[in-house]
Amino acid sequence: MQATINALEVENALLYTGQRTNVPVLMDSFARRLTYLRFSVTDFCNFRCNYCLPNGYQGQRPKNELTLAEIAFLFEGFAQLGTQKIRLTGGEPTIRSDLIDIIALAKQQTGIETVAVSSNGYKLGKHIAGFRAAGLTQLNISIDSFDPFMFKQITGFDILPQLLKDIDALLDTTDIRLKINGILTASNGMDNLALVLDYIKHRPVTYRFIEFMQTSDNRQLFFTEHTRAVAMKHYLLMQGWQPLTRTSDAGPATEYAHPDYVGRIGIIEPYAAHFCESCNRLRVSSVGKVHLCLFDSSHYDLRPLLAAGDIAGLKDVLQGLMPIKPEHHLLTEHNSGLMTNLSLVGG
Ligand code: SAM
Ligand code: SF4
Repeated sequence: MQATINALEVENALLYTGQRTNVPVLMDSFARRLTYLRFSVTDFCNFRCNYCLPNGYQGQRPKNELTLAEIAFLFEGFAQLGTQKIRLTGGEPTIRSDLIDIIALAKQQTGIETVAVSSNGYKLGKHIAGFRAAGLTQLNISIDSFDPFMFKQITGFDILPQLLKDIDALLDTTDIRLKINGILTASNGMDNLALVLDYIKHRPVTYRFIEFMQTSDNRQLFFTEHTRAVAMKHYLLMQGWQPLTRTSDAGPATEYAHPDYVGRIGIIEPYAAHFCESCNRLRVSSVGKVHLCLFDSSHYDLRPLLAAGDIAGLKDVLQGLMPIKPEHHLLTEHNSGLMTNLSLVGG
């Protein structure tokens, strides 16, 4: 992809959406509008997924996570630059006792249409009422296998039966949109697909398979377990699943539908050519570092601006970073940049 606009045009770019006019937008030098903020509220996680934190989180939960006041300035600055969607991720975001306040903060920003959380679903039942009260729009839960034994093997936790009950309660009692994510690995992909198909037959849920990505911590597992989604896509087509036309606000997944199923299958292929062309996201870590790409090799510290409540300065810095957002990741060259594991900035 060629750079199509210059820095001045980036600064002057305007976003016209819905009620909002003349809102400056973050646009990079490949004309991609960055309207989606993924904010890791903590990098701590209670699980030990074998592809992410196989030995669990090392050490104590850090004490220097952004405060609620700093998060409020962060959201305000991004909202003023045309952000429309905020995802709270981690680590495990439900570890933070003020997660509901953070959801509410995101929700109250002008222009934020979607507030989402990504979670491993631990004790989900306990969080449902708070999620609903705070106005959560979308919840993504990770379930890497619908086989309880495999689930425990992968995550270290024997909670699948309870999690499935909690998910049914969420579907019955709220209108929070639910997606379930699972990692696609060589040993777990097709076996899990059979169980997934049973699960979504009568449930309005999209289950998304994510191709296993390399990080500096998982090299050995990556080389035995990484697989592309080609065989799975072929199988789905043979069984009558049809890819849906992608809309302009579609996420990274290609979704498939089937007339005999209420739910859908999604496939996320970070190793596919052109995957990054539709990138619309920026990431901020739990201590306030902005990452221009999940696999970039540097980051910029926003914390001094957040601590000072300097929203004008924050916006200037974000605009100034736009020309250097990388065009694409370098995963196909086995370069995962600074990414040791995805609990750092939330997948
Ligand atoms: N703890 C939450 C969870 O598990 O959903 C949120 C953070 S987790 C890092 C976000 C997503 O990243 C999960 O769906 C997880 O499966 C995925 N993930 C973690 N490591 C990955 C890897 N190496 N390749 C692909 N996806 C990965
Ligand atoms: Fe924790 Fe999510 Fe990583 Fe699993 S994938 S270890 S739940 S951060």
